[in-house]
Amino acid sequence: MDLHRRVVESAPFGVLFFAYGVCVEVNRAALELLGCERDQVLGCDLEALVPEESVALAALKEQIRHALDEGASQAPWELRAADDRRRFLLQLGAGDSQRSGELVVAVYPQFAAEAPDAGAVDPRLAPSRSSVLRKLGGVVERRRAAYRDELTQLPTRQALLDHLRATWSGRRAEPGCGALMLIDLDHFKDINDSWGHELGDRVLARVAQGLHRQVTAAGAPQGAFLARQAGDEFALFVPGLGASLTEAAVRARALAEMLRELVATPIFLDGAEFALTASVGISLLNDATLDPERALQYADTAMYEAKRKGRNGCAFFDRAIAAKAERQVALNTRLRKAVDNQEFVLYVQPIVAVAQDRLLGGEVLLRWINSDRVTSMPAEFIPLLETSGLIVDVGHWVIRTACEHLRGFLDAGLWRADMQLHINISRRQFQDPRLLEVIEHSVRSYDIDPGLIAFEITETLAMEDVEAAVAKMNAVKAMGGRFAVDDFGVGYSSMSALRRLPFDWLKIDREFIRNLHRDADARGIVEAILGVSRQYGLKVTAEGVEDPAALALLRQIGCDSYQGALYSMPVPVERFGALLAAAAAA
Ligand code: C2E
Ligand code: MG
Ligand code: MG
Repeated sequence: MDLHRRVVESAPFGVLFFAYGVCVEVNRAALELLGCERDQVLGCDLEALVPEESVALAALKEQIRHALDEGASQAPWELRAADDRRRFLLQLGAGDSQRSGELVVAVYPQFAAEAPDAGAVDPRLAPSRSSVLRKLGGVVERRRAAYRDELTQLPTRQALLDHLRATWSGRRAEPGCGALMLIDLDHFKDINDSWGHELGDRVLARVAQGLHRQVTAAGAPQGAFLARQAGDEFALFVPGLGASLTEAAVRARALAEMLRELVATPIFLDGAEFALTASVGISLLNDATLDPERALQYADTAMYEAKRKGRNGCAFFDRAIAAKAERQVALNTRLRKAVDNQEFVLYVQPIVAVAQDRLLGGEVLLRWINSDRVTSMPAEFIPLLETSGLIVDVGHWVIRTACEHLRGFLDAGLWRADMQLHINISRRQFQDPRLLEVIEHSVRSYDIDPGLIAFEITETLAMEDVEAAVAKMNAVKAMGGRFAVDDFGVGYSSMSALRRLPFDWLKIDREFIRNLHRDADARGIVEAILGVSRQYGLKVTAEGVEDPAALALLRQIGCDSYQGALYSMPVPVERFGALLAAAAAA
């Protein structure tokens, strides 16, 4: 029996050692406190630790379990040593005088990369390696398997989570900022697919070795903990990277770049050369209350951002981006309900002849009046309707409802045969095979001459697949419908390409109209568009006319029609009806 062991045995307080979640050593004082035999305790995990439970012992069990789970953060534990193992001082016996005393519980890092053998848990304190080993048998091995990845010999995700819990969320003082990174190999599946899993595994093991060497090398940040998160994904936790977030960000970035460089170093195996790249997501930690699962989730979000940006790079987790994503999800749910609850309404913006301020019709524009009676603009929700596909249903509703309103204007004698109601058609809606059917059904239901309707599609959409667009447009035109190219000028398509598409109108984007009267370039562009349009037999509408000077100029250069704040912003349908009535009476 060596000296250390004798000291521990004769200590006036109880001592319990845990490794991998099982008890590997216990002294006599502890046995007395717990009221059990050495054999009953060694190799036991918490569940079996205390055979007969008094209230105090049950509490003890609970506290030890807590210590193993949570680290030293919870009172009434006293952190005794600042080395890599955790020791807790328990004050026992408040209500149980027979068993009062102190119990020191030492919990070994279950996750240490260099995990000790069961018998070597503490060479100074272990009684005899063989007896402990025999006792612990497979228990430790099983525990260890959960914490150590066989292939790479790195700690597992579970080990990382435990480590984070113990060393990060368990901190008392504020030692600065840390970082959690996820390093994901790009296109690793290709290696597995073309070289087989066996070789893929060996490549992974080599990458793991390299990363491990790098983060434990001299000069690397202290306390780095590298784990195999899953498949071809590694996680790296670095606790003290800097006093401020900025400092931590700079150092995290440098470290990530170093690791990416390392991954990019070619690996030679079986005469083949493997060149890899990695995408790294970095989540900065400056808040001890951040729970490990969430920190990993943040790093994961950042990693996907790095992938999205084209892989082979790093990205930081950004609260603003994450918050925006969350808001979008919430908005999506509300939009789905909005469709069911019919919270959409149509506004109409008058379209006016440039030459003599005569009303030529209007453009139907969607508004969402949500449950708080707040009116939302298309820019806020149309992109979301597009990505979720809801736009197809909403767009159909727009066509039907526009026809219904048009029927109202016709019945009231407010709509002349040379007027057009413009309806915007989105990309998904234009590509939807049922579009023709919907238009046909809507005009028939309200007995509308399709010639009174102009469908607007953007220049970009028309140019994407010119042939398909031509076919679709011709089918609608065969019914009598017409088309306007919307937002012309921002899509950079050439006027000659436009010639192949059967448009009737061209709407010049607001961007060029806004500065028309003070910007010679804008004026030049508008004049050029007008010249070519005339040649192609297209009528031209200027969007967003706000200034009388711009209108005067449009008149001078011979633009056909305009819409904009100068005449009227989009208004509710009833108000538009009143504008029509006033114009008819004038
Ligand atoms: P757009 O088709 O180019 O519609 C013209 C936009 O310019 C409208 O914005 C209108 O309010 C705005 N505007 C018109 N004159 C002025 C002006 O003088 N000053 C300013 N600052 N703005 C002016 P709105 O209503 O917000 O619609 C934005 C876009 O949303 C539309 O652009 C269109 O692309 C889309 N949108 C609107 N309603 C629908 C719809 O029912 N279906 C589809 N698919 N898209 C729609
Ligand atoms: Mg439009
Ligand atoms: Mg437009």
